[in-house]
Amino acid sequence: MHEQHTNRVGLLGWPVEHSLSPAIHQAAFNSQHLPWHYELLPVQPENIEKGIRAILSSDLKGFNITAPYKGTIIPYLSRLDDISRTLGAVNTVKREENGDWMGYNTDVYGFKKALEMTGAFSSDAPIVTLLGNGGAAVAVLAALLEMNVKRIVVLARNEEKSIQLLKRFEADRKINTDIISLSLEKKNIENSLSKNHFIINATPVGMQHVQQETLFAEDISLPEGLRFMDLIYHPWQTYMMEQVIRAGGTAWNGLNMLIYQAAAAYELWTGIKAPIEVMKDAAIRRITK
Ligand code: NAP
Repeated sequence: MHEQHTNRVGLLGWPVEHSLSPAIHQAAFNSQHLPWHYELLPVQPENIEKGIRAILSSDLKGFNITAPYKGTIIPYLSRLDDISRTLGAVNTVKREENGDWMGYNTDVYGFKKALEMTGAFSSDAPIVTLLGNGGAAVAVLAALLEMNVKRIVVLARNEEKSIQLLKRFEADRKINTDIISLSLEKKNIENSLSKNHFIINATPVGMQHVQQETLFAEDISLPEGLRFMDLIYHPWQTYMMEQVIRAGGTAWNGLNMLIYQAAAAYELWTGIKAPIEVMKDAAIRRITK
């Protein structure tokens, strides 16, 4: 009897040891009896060039990329899909039949699905406030622009970075959305809360399990009916989510974004429909362990 060949995929990043991706993908492969294995590919920044070359000359079928290498990987790839070219960020790579390495960004799709699944978002209704302007915020912006949202307010500590980011989008596509960039200060947050209906946290504020970390100062009054999505999924409910719910609003965490970006990568690699519920259960088991 000859041994079945295993197809290898993995996650390039630094650090990666707390990632849920191996659990999510392996549960999906196993549930569909696919001979695939998902592994961690940690590479320290000082070794990144050598690390990427080693990965690309290995027998991997593909890999995900997380912080801080979503942009670093680009010059090493043969081609990019449109969205990853616009964003300058790749989170999924696939080896083509001819050996070429193709880059994709499935975070945008993941966020769009997550937003749709809230059932509380339609592009004609909300004005969106986006907290943060890092890697995740870029994917959120791209998704919101694709959805033709009327107005987006970006609140971030580094306004210059927001301006550069918005320029990149303006250069690359026709935008029907009115976008404003402001500093992440209490007054601007407060104004957004009173005027806007949908807030998205794309900063890591709230990831500290022990502290009540928040960008909503306790003396800010959160309007009833506020809709809030935190891209964080661990802890399951962040303190900001708690604040919104306490004030009579609705809050969602980032799990669906995580699951749907993973599902899209899985489908690119295997060509088989991803088992969403299996992936979700695997993530929840890890988060609530
Ligand atoms: P990133 O590229 O490092 O960007 C972080 C952003 O948050 C930057 O704008 C940063 O501002 C800002 N920030 C950091 N600490 C802050 C603080 N204490 N107060 C105010 N702003 C602060 O990180 P990322 O990859 O975008 O990730 C952001 C969050 O999204 C993380 O919690 C991550 O877990 C989550 N995420 C979730 C998913 C998902 O699938 N659900 C996917 C990706 C990311 P500066 O530039 O001024 O530092």
